[in-house]
Amino acid sequence: MSTKDYLEKDYYKVLGVSKTASQDEIKKAYRKLAQQYHPDRNKGDADAEDRFKEVSEANSVLSDEQRRKEYDQVRSMPSGFRGAGGGQGGGFGFDLGDLFGQGGPTPGGAGTHGAGERIGDLFGGLFNRGGTRTGTSARRARRGADVETEVTLPFGRAMNGVTVPLKLTSEAACPTCHGTGAKAGTVPRVCPNCEGTGQETRNLGNFGFSEPCHICRGRGLVVDDPCPTCSGSGRATGTRTIQARIPAGVADGQKIRLKGKGAPGENGGPAGDLYVNIKVTPHKVFGRSGDNLTLTVPVTFPEAALGAEIRVPTFQGQPVTLRVPEGTPNGRTFRVRGRGAARRDGTKGDLLVTVDVQVPGKLDDQTRTALESLRSSGEGDDLRGGLLQQAGEE
Ligand SMILES: [Zn+2]
Ligand SMILES: [Zn+2]
Repeated sequence: MSTKDYLEKDYYKVLGVSKTASQDEIKKAYRKLAQQYHPDRNKGDADAEDRFKEVSEANSVLSDEQRRKEYDQVRSMPSGFRGAGGGQGGGFGFDLGDLFGQGGPTPGGAGTHGAGERIGDLFGGLFNRGGTRTGTSARRARRGADVETEVTLPFGRAMNGVTVPLKLTSEAACPTCHGTGAKAGTVPRVCPNCEGTGQETRNLGNFGFSEPCHICRGRGLVVDDPCPTCSGSGRATGTRTIQARIPAGVADGQKIRLKGKGAPGENGGPAGDLYVNIKVTPHKVFGRSGDNLTLTVPVTFPEAALGAEIRVPTFQGQPVTLRVPEGTPNGRTFRVRGRGAARRDGTKGDLLVTVDVQVPGKLDDQTRTALESLRSSGEGDDLRGGLLQQAGEE
């Protein structure tokens, strides 16, 4: 939107009042519309938000007799004479800064600024935030981008849940020029190529394609004297730290979505979401399998063969006694209920204990004798019989 468009906006129509409306009528119309389109009552509705801003803008001019008079004056001029940029405003016997900078829809613009800065505020406010229904998509309320980040948690933190500070970088308005991209004391001018729409049409045969203007790159404005901080882009990389609540029980490779914690929206649009990719450093003893924890415990051959009661650790809890029944094969897994990771519904997974039968490396005489007597008992003599036979079959 150019200043020209702005001045051509019919504030009377916006409020639905006649050009001769009294202050009382204006006040009433404004109150009704402001209530109807108030952001609190229209959460996430970008159109309502645009309307709300438009209504506020209209009211701020029409409810002020002096500004209303100036507005009426400008609008009564032939449109060709209306200033297309801030620079020409002074020629009409009023100060654009006074008209729009003070108490208007844009913050800032206090009387202490120089005129140039005030006009800068005007541009900053109008072009970056002052959403308008007739504006191009580039200046419509836009949802902020989704942001993705990664966090590495120690095993225990992931199990218990933790709040971690996440440092995020995102694009923000340049603090030096407040997003105008223009050097202090200068203002951007409306792009002559696209006349401020930010779009240009390319004709290919019978088809017209609308694409971002190649001169202003879709901004609708060009900067002659670029701001030294941002080189004219009007954008800066800002850093912000947010506290992200990571729920208990997250596992390595999981992706957590934090709604509304992404990049801020533009022109009053909602913020995007933040996606946190979770990495969990492995534990020395416990592993994860879904909601369950896994644990491998060594058992002796007699324990596995004869059965035993063994003590096994649990994660951050007292050890539990596990009954290994007689004749337990190597690799069998036992379940200890409720000693796993937290689930979203508040319940917990299980601890899966897998036995690892150990073969003694060094034998003392007593063990040797015991094992030799086991061998001579003939147990397991035909262990591989079936295997050898079946290997020959087709
Ligand atoms: Zn800048
Ligand atoms: Zn352009």
